[in-house]
Amino acid sequence: MSIEVKNITKLYGEQQALNNVSFTINKGEIVGFLGPNGAGKSTMMKIITGYIDASEGAVIVNNFDIFIDKIAAQKSIGYLPEHNPLYLDMYVREYLQFNAEIHKIAKVEVENCIQKVGLTPEAHKKINQLSKGYRQRVGLAAALLHNPEVLILDEPTTGLDPNQLLEVRNLIKEVGKDKTVLFSTHIMQEVEAICNRVIVINKGQLIVDKKLSDFKENEEQIIEVEFDFKIEKRFFESIPYLKSADNFHDTSWVLTFSTTIDMRSKVFDFAHDNGLKILQLNTKNKNLESLFRALTT
Ligand code: ADP
Repeated sequence: MSIEVKNITKLYGEQQALNNVSFTINKGEIVGFLGPNGAGKSTMMKIITGYIDASEGAVIVNNFDIFIDKIAAQKSIGYLPEHNPLYLDMYVREYLQFNAEIHKIAKVEVENCIQKVGLTPEAHKKINQLSKGYRQRVGLAAALLHNPEVLILDEPTTGLDPNQLLEVRNLIKEVGKDKTVLFSTHIMQEVEAICNRVIVINKGQLIVDKKLSDFKENEEQIIEVEFDFKIEKRFFESIPYLKSADNFHDTSWVLTFSTTIDMRSKVFDFAHDNGLKILQLNTKNKNLESLFRALTT
């Protein structure tokens, strides 16, 4: 077990930010921590990383109690806070070396981390010359310096443009391959893109803790696809498991299948057989989407 959160309650004065929240995260999992703004995500992450105390409950990280053995627990945690605090006047490499020195980490790790997060071409620049996406990479590199087993990332993709968003998502997936990752977001699609499990909190309470594969059971599969030409609906009848085909815009269709088998390759085959090109294709997880809509409205 990498992270064990036991009955955590947090009060800020009169205001209850977390109410008796418990969950465990196993080694190697990438878990999305989802909830609308104000749900208590940042508060929970600050508690797990030992930056603030809880009012009640316990947190165990890598077998150390964060409230009792804080330093030992923090050794296995890399934390990227929501407002990634960077010294904007420092150079990227200088900033990371500074962090490494404070934590008595060998200089070679700085170069390893620069490489790992794809910062090599930017490493000689001042942090204030970097885009938000690259600043996030600097924060991520700083969080990775001591090679922690657990990564806690608070809204790592908020405020990024679509390209940067994809890059940072891929980076999280990549660095998450040999780590336990808990990352918060208020964007449902993010969870589908990165995680194998989702924990949802709302108004300080845990309301869902599920593997993404569980959402997919007994479910309809929805594929949004855009072709380069208009086609007639009857053509889709040749694709197996098709439940409905709705033409929502010109050459764009929403195809619903009654199967959990991944139908994307069948849609590609269909396009190829009919001399069509696919301009865009997205899959949607209906249950997770409806859950999130219900949660945020
Ligand atoms: P999220 O990260 O999900 O947006 P937060 O953990 O930041 O949620 O906040 C949860 C609740 O606690 C909100 O109602 C917020 O206003 C409140 N809160 C957060 N930090 C403080 C604080 N330092 N003092 C008082 N209230 C706070």
